[in-house]
Amino acid sequence: MSETIFTKIIRREIPASIIFEDDLCVAFRDIAPQAPVHLLVVPKEPVADLASAGRSRESLLGHLLQVSAKVAEQEGIGRGFRVVINNGADAGQTVFHLHLHVLGGRAMDWPPG
Ligand code: 5GP
Repeated sequence: MSETIFTKIIRREIPASIIFEDDLCVAFRDIAPQAPVHLLVVPKEPVADLASAGRSRESLLGHLLQVSAKVAEQEGIGRGFRVVINNGADAGQTVFHLHLHVLGGRAMDWPPG
C-alpha cells in the first residue's frame, strides 16, 4: 500500500489534533468536520480499506470499534454518535488508509447520503 497523509500524521510529520493513541491506533479530529464532533480512528498499520483487512485483522477491527466508542465518550457525544467506514471511491473514500469516522453533536439523518 502506498503511503497516505495518515501515515505522516501517525509519525507526527504533519500536525493533527490527536486526542487518543495506543499501540494499535490513533484518533484525531477531522480537518473538514461534518458534525460538531468529527473524529477519525486510524490503525497504525497501513491497511488500505475494510475490504482488504481480512480475517487476520478481526481483533484489530474490533479494537478500532471499541476505541471509537471510547473517544466518543471522551469527547462528550457518548449518548449518540455514528461510526462510518467509507470503503472504496464509490462510497466516498478519499484516503486509502483504513479509518473510522466518529460523528456526533447534531441530529443524524437516515439513510445517509
Ligand atoms: P474518507 O473520505 O476517505 O472516508 O475520509 C477521509 C477524511 O480524512 C475526510 O473526512 C477528510 O476531511 C480527512 N482528512 C484528509 N486529510 C486530512 C488531514 O490532513 N488531516 C486531518 N485531520 N484530516 C484529514
